[in-house]
Amino acid sequence: MNESRKLFVKSFGCQMNVYDSRRMADTLAPQGYVETPAADDADLVILNTCHIREKAAEKVYSELGRVRRLKEAAAAEGRRIVIAVAGCVAQAEGEEIIRRAPTVDLVFGPQSYHRLPQLLAGAERGDKPVDTEFPLDDKFDHLAAPSTAAVRARGVSAFVTVQEGCDKFCTFCVVPYTRGAEVSRPVDKILAEVAQLASAGVREITLLGQNVNAYHGDGLNGRPSSLAQLLEHVSAIDGVERLRYTTSHPRDMDGHLIAAHGALPKLMPQLHLPVQSGSDRVLAAMKRRHTCADYLAIVSRLRAARPDLALTSDFIVGFPGETEADFAQTLSLVGEVGFSGAFSFKYSPRPGTPGADLPDQVDEETKSERLHRLQTAIDQSQAEFNRSCLGRTFEVLFEKPGRYTSQLVGRSPYLQPVQVTAPAAMIGEIAAVTITEVASNSLFGTLARAPAREPSLAGAGA
Ligand code: SAM
Ligand code: SF4
Repeated sequence: MNESRKLFVKSFGCQMNVYDSRRMADTLAPQGYVETPAADDADLVILNTCHIREKAAEKVYSELGRVRRLKEAAAAEGRRIVIAVAGCVAQAEGEEIIRRAPTVDLVFGPQSYHRLPQLLAGAERGDKPVDTEFPLDDKFDHLAAPSTAAVRARGVSAFVTVQEGCDKFCTFCVVPYTRGAEVSRPVDKILAEVAQLASAGVREITLLGQNVNAYHGDGLNGRPSSLAQLLEHVSAIDGVERLRYTTSHPRDMDGHLIAAHGALPKLMPQLHLPVQSGSDRVLAAMKRRHTCADYLAIVSRLRAARPDLALTSDFIVGFPGETEADFAQTLSLVGEVGFSGAFSFKYSPRPGTPGADLPDQVDEETKSERLHRLQTAIDQSQAEFNRSCLGRTFEVLFEKPGRYTSQLVGRSPYLQPVQVTAPAAMIGEIAAVTITEVASNSLFGTLARAPAREPSLAGAGA
C-alpha cells in the first residue's frame, strides 16, 4: 500500500485541459496521491498550462514564482514539494521552462500524461525529466479510469475527450504544433468510459475535441465512425440524459451531424461554432477555408433542424491586415446570427505560426478598441437571448449549491446557469423550471412542478 501524498493540479485554458488534469489525478491515485485544493500543503504541484495566447503562457511564469515561494517555505520545514509543468506551454517550450524557472522539477507535454508515474520517479531522484515526445501508442490506453468516488465528487456533468490534435493549421493557431496531428479515439473505448461515468451518477456528457466534429474514430463495425454516429451510440447509454460536443469547425458540420440536432432528443439545443471573423478577406488570411456566407448557410440549416438552437462562437479581432471595414463585417455578423454568447480575443502573434510573420500587424490600441466594441455587441446579443427566456419553462439539470442557502445552480438546455430555490437532494436531477427573472447573465427561476423522483447523484449506483 502506497503512503498517502497530496496532489494539487491547476488547469489553465480549455476544457480539454480540465479533462486532462482529472485523468492525471486518476493515474496518480494508485500511487497514493490524493487531490488537495491548496498548493501549500501539496507534495506534488502540477500546472497544466495553455499556450493559445501570449497572456495565457505568461500566466504560468507568474504562477511559478508563487509556487517557488511555497517550495522554499516547505523546504525550510524539511518538506519537499515537487513542481511539474504540463500541457501546451510544456510542449512548446520544453527545456526552456527549467532554464527560466529552475524551481521546476519536471516538464511533460499533453501526449506524455500516461508516463507520469515513471517521470515522477525521475523528478524525485533530481533528474529534472523533460518529455515532449509524440509517442505512437495511444495515451488513453494507459490512463487509469477514475474511481466512482472521484466521479461523484466531480459532479453530474462530465467531459470525455474523443478527439485530440488538429490538421487544419489556421494561421493564428498553435494547437497543431502543441497537440499534434488529429487523432480520434475508438468508439468502443469512448462508450465504455461514458457508461462508467453514467453508472456513477453523471447525467450530462460533453464530448471534447480541438476539432471534435472532425471525429473519425474506429466504429463498432471496424469502419471509421462520424461524430453523428458516435452521438447516436452515446445517447443510447442508460443514465445519460444530456449530450453536448465542443469545439467544432464550420468546415466539418456535415449533413448527418446537422440532422442529429433534430433527431437526437438528448442532444442539447446549444452549439459552440467558432467563426473568428465576419470578413471573407480575413477568413482567407486565417486559412479558415470557409466564407461568411458558408457560415450563415450552416446556421440556417442547423436552425431548420433545431429551431430553438442557441449558438455561441469565438472571435479574434486585429488579425494582421484587418481593416475597419473588415471589422464592421464582424459586427454585422454578430447582429445577423443573434449569438447567445461568445468569446472574443485580441489577436496574439504566436511564435512559429504563419500569422506572426505577416506584415500589417494591427497595433494594440486598435485591437483593444475593436475588442471593446465587439464585446458590447456580444453582450447585447446575449442579453437579448436571455430576455427571450423570461416566462419560458424548460428542463434544468441541477449541478451544485447556489450562492444562498436553499438555492441550487443548474444549467438550462442552452447552457445558461439558472438559480432556483430547491432542496440539495435535487442535485443530479432534471426538473422543469419557469424563468422568473433575468439579471446580467444569470437566470432565476422557480420549480414548475414537483420533480420526478429520479436518483440523485448522492444515491446513484448505491
Ligand atoms: N478548434 C477551434 C476552432 O477551430 O475554432 C478553436 C480552438 S482554440 C483552442 C480556441 C479559440 O482561441 C479560437 O477559436 C480562437 O478564437 C482563439 N485563438 C486561437 N489562437 C489565437 C491567437 N493566436 N490569438 C487570439 N486568439 C486565438
Ligand atoms: Fe486551431 Fe481550431 Fe484552427 Fe485547429 S481548427 S488550427 S485548433 S483554430
